[in-house]
Amino acid sequence: MKTIQHWIDGASTSGASTRTAPVWDPATGRQQAAVLLAEQADVDAAVEAAAKAFEGWGDSSLTKRTRVMFSLRELLARHEDEMARIIAAEHGKVVDDAKGEIVRGREVVEYACGIISALKGGYSDQISTGIDTFDFRQPLGVVAGITPFNFPIMVPLWMHPIAIACGNTFVLKPSERDPSVSDFVARLYADAGLPDGVFNVLHGDKTAVDGLLDHPDVQAISFVGSTPIAKYVHERATASGKRVQALGGAKNHAVVMPDADLEFAADHLTAAAFGSAGQRCMAISAAVAVGEAADALVPVLADKAKAIKVGPGQDATNEMGPVITAQARDRVASFVGSGEEQGAVVVVDGRDLEVEGHEEGFFVGPSLLDRVTADMDVYRQEVFGPLLVVVRAADLDEAIALINANPYGNGTAIFTGDGEVARRFQRGVTVGMIGVNVPIPVPMSHYSFGGWKDSLFGGDHIHGPEGVHFYTRAKVVTSRWPHVDRSVAAAFDFPTHG
Ligand code: NAD
Repeated sequence: MKTIQHWIDGASTSGASTRTAPVWDPATGRQQAAVLLAEQADVDAAVEAAAKAFEGWGDSSLTKRTRVMFSLRELLARHEDEMARIIAAEHGKVVDDAKGEIVRGREVVEYACGIISALKGGYSDQISTGIDTFDFRQPLGVVAGITPFNFPIMVPLWMHPIAIACGNTFVLKPSERDPSVSDFVARLYADAGLPDGVFNVLHGDKTAVDGLLDHPDVQAISFVGSTPIAKYVHERATASGKRVQALGGAKNHAVVMPDADLEFAADHLTAAAFGSAGQRCMAISAAVAVGEAADALVPVLADKAKAIKVGPGQDATNEMGPVITAQARDRVASFVGSGEEQGAVVVVDGRDLEVEGHEEGFFVGPSLLDRVTADMDVYRQEVFGPLLVVVRAADLDEAIALINANPYGNGTAIFTGDGEVARRFQRGVTVGMIGVNVPIPVPMSHYSFGGWKDSLFGGDHIHGPEGVHFYTRAKVVTSRWPHVDRSVAAAFDFPTHG
């Protein structure tokens, strides 16, 4: 069986690791590989390689860094099919969906190709008499990224192209559940001309994460994952003096107003709730149907949920693959059960789905629960699976109040044809990313991505301008160059004040 190794200082290595974790094929339920789990010695080796590489890379010209990013961009495009297959095999999502995350991640590389503009400082001539002021930003040094399973290439790409283009060196600790594509990207960086040690991949579990959080030579941590771990990472890494951005979980609501085009809204809600088997941090997991929208919306949603073609991600005709593990499958099923026990109406029940020839796979079908209320467990917790709940609200104010009372604040959307309603919504919700008739409002790479409340710990959002801000620190120079009177000749007699 294949063992997935670390990538440190430009080479694949097993380092000091002896422990491994299984990498499953979620479509068959069988183990397909083992991934090494780093020990502290491996953390030290990766950070040491990155620190050594920073001596050259941190001082390299912006032109040189940009060239690497342009090459990487081309290589990511050229190898898209190959990488999509690797992702589909380990994550379970359908191949086209995997291609989508590659494209969205590549857009961050495109932003990094313009790092010369992004890093431009300001200059104030004659800010005081004879004095000019300017500012510029410098890299931090070694920075680390810790990423979740659900976007094995896109989420790391939110981090490392920006960090590296800014002159930092990077240690990536990807999810141990779908680790292979990170090694693939490491090889692409090498082919793009990135010097050894600038980008390193350290596979592992809590030992690797804690080792990075505590390491004195790691300057900053970018984390994306569940809220409890995000909170933990933020607390532990800030305690050791690091800069931290830690993005957490989500419960994303989509409000459907009575004036909305229900067919359009239902189509988009279905894709946003069940695409990637609901395992997206921007998936819609709660539809908030306002007034009379509810009775009309639920049957349309039910028909669309039942029509979804579920099967292995490698088969391009499927629309939804399995979830990541057997535990994740059972967890989704248990939330359908608890919702039912607590008074919700199960409109579509995905618990009994069987995919022919893949009986041992981690499949669970799309589920739809109506008349869910804010006190039910299925509403209060992040399910992270193909389960959409419908909550009914009397009016827009009630819908906004519901969203604002929720501890998460990642993304939200509204479906309406009324601009005034949309404006009231976008100004009133305590959520970081908002869609108006757009169900998954993931900002393009020239903007930054991040939620509010329990969906983000730390100041800066990720990628885009805030990413550049996060991976650099500023200097402000105030300079005076006094006028030198060259008409006064040097004298050989002892100088006196004249
Ligand atoms: P996770 O929190 O279990 O794991 C994320 C990372 O943390 C992994 O690399 C993992 O190895 C590490 N980790 C796990 N347990 C740890 C521990 N006890 N100590 C130290 N490190 C630990 O998340 P996941 O299950 O891989 O991903 C799904 C979660 O990520 C969901 O909650 C989802 O909403 C969230 N997510 C959020 C965003 C966002 O942008 N806000 C994006 C993607 C995913």
